[in-house]
Amino acid sequence: MSEIETDYLVVGAGASGMAFTDALIASSDAEVVMVDRRHRPGGHWNDDYPFVRLHQPSALYGVASRPLGHDRIDESGINAGFYERATAAEICDYYGRVLDEQFVPSGRVRLFGMHDHLGNDASGHRLRSRVTGKTTTVRVRRKLVDATYIESSLPSTHKPAYTVESAGLVLTPNRLVDLDEPASGFTVIGAGKTSMDTCCWLIEQGVDPDTIRWIRPRDAWTADRASIQPLRLIGAFIEWVAAQNEACAQAESLEELFPVLEDRGVLHRLDPAVEPVFNRGAILSETERVMLREVGNVVRLGKVNHVGADRIDLDEGTIPNPIMSWSTAPPRDSPRHPIGACSTRIGSRFSGSRLA
Ligand SMILES: Cc1cc2nc3c(=O)[nH]c(=O)nc-3n(C[C@H](O)[C@H](O)[C@H](O)COP(=O)(O)OP(=O)(O)OC[C@H]3O[C@@H](n4cnc5c(N)ncnc54)[C@H](O)[C@@H]3O)c2cc1C
Repeated sequence: MSEIETDYLVVGAGASGMAFTDALIASSDAEVVMVDRRHRPGGHWNDDYPFVRLHQPSALYGVASRPLGHDRIDESGINAGFYERATAAEICDYYGRVLDEQFVPSGRVRLFGMHDHLGNDASGHRLRSRVTGKTTTVRVRRKLVDATYIESSLPSTHKPAYTVESAGLVLTPNRLVDLDEPASGFTVIGAGKTSMDTCCWLIEQGVDPDTIRWIRPRDAWTADRASIQPLRLIGAFIEWVAAQNEACAQAESLEELFPVLEDRGVLHRLDPAVEPVFNRGAILSETERVMLREVGNVVRLGKVNHVGADRIDLDEGTIPNPIMSWSTAPPRDSPRHPIGACSTRIGSRFSGSRLA
C-alpha cells in the first residue's frame, strides 16, 4: 500500500470533476488528485451509444480554459442551421487532451484512472486499482470533492428495471450499430432523450417509421434547439430566458407554469394531443420533432415490467412481442425485431425532486 498527500481529492473525472479541477488550478496553486473507475476522463461519455451527440452546441460544454469544437454552423442534417454538437468520441478526446496537455503538464494534477474511491478512515481516503488491486491512501490537506453527484446510469452499464426472459432479447442502443442483418421492426423502450435519439437514428438509417413501436410510459417536455444557441445566434437564447422568467413571474403554481411555458415557446411537446408530465431538459430541433412524430405506434401503458419472447408486460397491459419467427438463422444473438432499452437515469439521487 502506498501513501500520498494532496490539497484536493476529486472523485469523478467526468464533466463535473474536470470543470471543477480546471477552475481550481486556474485560480490557485492547489495540488489535486483525481480518481475515476473508468480508464480515462469523460465520465459517462465513454460508454454512451455511438450516435449520441451533445444536446446543445459544443461551445456551451467542457472546461472553462479550452473551447470544445470549432464554432461551426452545420449546413445539413438534423442540426442544420445550428452550432455544431460534439459526438461522444470528440468529447472523450477533448477531456483526454485537457488532462494530457493541461492538467498533467501543470505538475499539480494526477489522475488515478481505473481506481475506485472506497471511502475514508482515520488514515485517509482509500483508492483501489481495478487492474492490480493495490491500494493507495490519500491524505487530503484541504477538501474531498464529490464530483459523482449527478452520475448517470446508462443502458449499456446498468441492468434495466424490468426482467427479460432470455439474454439477447433486448439490445442497448450501443448495440444497434452491430446489427448485421436487417430487422423486421424495432421496439424502443423509454421516454427520454436516449429513446428520442434512437428513433431519430433509426429513421436516419432509412427505417420506415411505421415499423418502429415506441413504448413511452410518459411524455417529456422538450426545449427547442433554436433557442439554445451561442455566439451569432445568442439573440434567440436571450429571448428564451426572458420568456422563462416572464412565465415564472406570471404563474402561481407548477400547474399554471407549464401551459405558459408552452404558449411562450419555451417548451414543446412531441405529441400535440398528449400533455407531457416531466422535463429533464431534452433539447430537439424542429426537424427532429417532426421526425419523431412520424412514429405513430406509441404504446402508453405505463412502464415495462417484463420482456418475454412473445409478449411484453407493462403496468397497464400486455402487448405482443413480434419476435415470432426467424426467416433465416438469427445473426449471432441479435433478435430479428430488436428491442432497445433506452432508459438513462441521470443523477438518481435527485429523482425524488423531479417533476413527474
Ligand atoms: C446520454 C447522455 C447525454 C447527455 N447529454 C448532455 C448534453 O448534451 N448536455 C448536457 O449539459 N448534459 C448532458 N447530459 C447530462 C450529463 O449528466 C452531464 O453533461 C455530465 O456529463 C455529467 O458529468 P458528471 O461528471 O457529473 O457525471 P459522469 O459523467 O457520470 O461522471 C462521474 C464519474 O465518476 C466516476 N465515479 C463515480 N463513483 C466513483 C467511485 N466511487 N470511484 C471512482 N470513480 C467514481 C464514474 O466512473 C464517472 O466517470 C447527458 C447525459 C447522458 C447520460
